[in-house]
Amino acid sequence: MKNIILIAPPAAGKGTVSKLLVENDNYIQLSTGNILREMAAKDEELQKLLDSGCLVSDEIICKILKEKLIELKGKSYILDGFPRTINQAQIYDEIIKELGIDLGIVAYLDVPKEILLKRITSRLVCPKCGATYSTSNESLKPKNENICDMCNSDLIKRLDDSEETFELRYNTYMEKTNPLLDYYTNKGILHRIDAINSDETYRQVRQLIR
Ligand code: AMP
Repeated sequence: MKNIILIAPPAAGKGTVSKLLVENDNYIQLSTGNILREMAAKDEELQKLLDSGCLVSDEIICKILKEKLIELKGKSYILDGFPRTINQAQIYDEIIKELGIDLGIVAYLDVPKEILLKRITSRLVCPKCGATYSTSNESLKPKNENICDMCNSDLIKRLDDSEETFELRYNTYMEKTNPLLDYYTNKGILHRIDAINSDETYRQVRQLIR
């Protein structure tokens, strides 16, 4: 199966699509946000940085990602939240060349800003396994209120999922991550997906990997 890079603004549905690909298609999800949140449980400075909505340095995130890729030993994966800058994409190209990994495909999840904001403010996440839910979408609600379907942990609201932090994260996305669309278009592997409807988004991503 082809490796997948998901490029999308905050709350466009990267986590939801990844969860479905893990459950139904045997993919491994590499969510740099989830990895960093786990690390931040023991690192106050990192937690503050994540809460602020700013990006972690390219050097640190690429080092973490490389270690995870080595552990995967060739299994197919979805990159959820990486790369987020052109520099990260270039370093990633070098890492996969060194490890003999195929770049695969890039899916850009396109969602208008006003819908993203609505999703952000109704999002709940599992602090243990990273699964994401939405209180404003029937098909994305947890089966039991505030309890994770996957691991039964209590769900929480991320501190960076506030309206103010969303604005900063969205602007950071537009400035630093959006240029990746041209980067991957030039490589001929970018696929744009209309990601307003989450079930439809998964169906479209699935078509790309078959
Ligand atoms: P996410 O869960 O993808 O929204 O990421 C949450 C936060 O983790 C971001 O706001 C950044 O602070 C940090 N982060 C995640 N992935 C990256 C990355 N590839 N580069 C830099 N910072 C990242």
